[in-house]
Amino acid sequence: MSFAQLGLNAELQISAAQAGFTLPTPVQAQAIGPVLNGRDVLAQAQTGSGKTAAYVLPMLQLLMATAASRDEAANSRNTKTKRSTQVLVLVPTRELAAQVSDVLRDLARPLAQSIKVGTLFGGVSINPQMMSLRSGADVVVATPGRLLDIVDHKALNLGHVQHLVLDEADRLLDLGFSEELQRILALLPAQRQNLLFSATFEPAVQSLAQALLHNPERITIAHTEAHAPDIAQRAIQVDEKSRTALLRHLIKTHAWKRVLVFVATRYACEHVANKLYKAGIFATAFHGEMSQGARQDVLAEFKEDRWEVVVTTDLAARGIDIAQLPVVVNYDLPRSATDYTHRIGRTGRAGAHGEALSFVTAASQAHWLLIQTRAQMQLPVEVLEGFEPTEVPPPVSALNDGTGGIKGARPSKKDKLRAAAAARAHAES
Ligand code: AMP
Repeated sequence: MSFAQLGLNAELQISAAQAGFTLPTPVQAQAIGPVLNGRDVLAQAQTGSGKTAAYVLPMLQLLMATAASRDEAANSRNTKTKRSTQVLVLVPTRELAAQVSDVLRDLARPLAQSIKVGTLFGGVSINPQMMSLRSGADVVVATPGRLLDIVDHKALNLGHVQHLVLDEADRLLDLGFSEELQRILALLPAQRQNLLFSATFEPAVQSLAQALLHNPERITIAHTEAHAPDIAQRAIQVDEKSRTALLRHLIKTHAWKRVLVFVATRYACEHVANKLYKAGIFATAFHGEMSQGARQDVLAEFKEDRWEVVVTTDLAARGIDIAQLPVVVNYDLPRSATDYTHRIGRTGRAGAHGEALSFVTAASQAHWLLIQTRAQMQLPVEVLEGFEPTEVPPPVSALNDGTGGIKGARPSKKDKLRAAAAARAHAES
């Protein structure tokens, strides 16, 4: 199946080819047609599967028609008309906002029509973003909080939005964002196309998604061998105190040049990055306490090979696309199987081979079992020479937190809110 067979016009076929997209990925093959036909879409596909272009390409095609008539009218009157925002793309993180905007601009650049993209996210001054909207924007890509700030400043009108995209939809539907999302939805015309894309949709989120969609085209890209990203997953048993030494050993012996390391806290990011740096490895931290400018610099420098290792929290687990990121290491295990999927999905993107290693300590063994059960996988646990574990798992009584859960996997406040919302949705259905 080619892009042409999916109904993509000749100009966009050229844009796609220039971006190096010769054939549609499976999610693109299934989504582009229904999006062009105006259908609502609920698409679940793995990270790195080409989800962004799956909505960007058809969105651009839909925008081209109005852009052409607007440009023509402006030329004949020799005036400039303010662009009205027809497409709103909501994303949960600043980095993803910047990334999706780049894809939009790259694919729109070769087109004859001018299509303007506004990018709105917090952590940086609001004024340049408001200035950038003075002549309007055809597409706005935004994080929810900053979008509402800008609307409150009357710098943007969402009353003409015809297409709403939720990228990483499950995070946006999650309770952390739900109030902001409800406010935004109330500002949009009721009659519009809704597109929801995510790698994971937990059951509680599924029912919230239902309320947003009208007779959606459901797309699930199966985890088949052919579609699954090529990620070799490994689990290594190691003592807690030996993890940095093991990481150093692995980086040196395999001569890894680009590694993303996940830890549990911002403090651990700095701590582990410093220890590696002192050992002669170019490592730096990336976390939410850093300024937006510093975060952007680290990502850009990582992509330019200035850093060999970036140590991060789950902040970098979603959305971020670093081409040729061969190795991801879970120095601390993720909280959930969903986070595990997102973390390891930073590697093995766009058909490349990737490796994902998880360090399992005596204390995290039970949690690792839980992640494996939920992710429906079972990896052999390796022990490496020179790093044989000596620590013993804590007694079962210490694992039991009295709620029937496992220590380290206790439900957070957000988990409890989510469970309450799921129970409410269940009661209402
Ligand atoms: P995404 O899942 O949108 O983050 O995309 C993951 C990677 O796949 C990005 O680096 C894209 O540039 C690349 N990509 C997207 N569509 C295609 C395609 N049709 N052919 C080859 N690479 C693609």
